[in-house]
Amino acid sequence: MEIIRRRVKYPRIEIKPEGKIKVIAPPGYDVSGFVKRKQAWIDKKLKEISGLKRQVENKDDKFLLNGSYYELKAGSALEIDSIRNIMVMPELTELHSWIKEKLREEVSYKVKYISRLVDVNYSKIYIKRQKTRWASCSGKGNLSFNVAMMALPETLREYIIIHELSHQLERNHSKKFWKIVEQHYPNYKKAREELKQYSLMVAKNGIWNKLMEC
Ligand SMILES: [Zn+2]
Repeated sequence: MEIIRRRVKYPRIEIKPEGKIKVIAPPGYDVSGFVKRKQAWIDKKLKEISGLKRQVENKDDKFLLNGSYYELKAGSALEIDSIRNIMVMPELTELHSWIKEKLREEVSYKVKYISRLVDVNYSKIYIKRQKTRWASCSGKGNLSFNVAMMALPETLREYIIIHELSHQLERNHSKKFWKIVEQHYPNYKKAREELKQYSLMVAKNGIWNKLMEC
């Protein structure tokens, strides 16, 4: 456990996806008492993380797509059987361009209608390989989305789009910003938690790792 002393108003505990615990508390604050009071919550979180780790193990030869693991089979043309979760995959580069194309199609369509709901404009849409973020937006209204978004369930892709478009109204992650997000995605807190888990799942998936490099 890492303890960070900082002049914060309220102490808090952060649990990283790898299970590392960080406590941020004001100087002189009784950290061990605080941790004791939060023990049940910490245990619950750690249990979730180890459950996720177990879930991710032995999935290295499977491909994470739309929130499900697909068994891969070699073949000459790309084919997806989403009932039995089997994917016929040619070359990795081909899979990469297919994913990029699919994502571009879906994201372009969704950005168009969600931008009307949020009532904002945008300029260009980029689909990129990004190591650390799902998406980002520039001051000029350009939107960049990570190809790894194809690993996510569709609803989380929608959350990401709503998040980025809401930044056109409010740059920072202020209370006002989250209010805007909430209007369009009431369950955004759960989505943020799930995205953290998916980051870990993508980072641990051998095929996604190769795809991000190829
Ligand atoms: Zn943001």
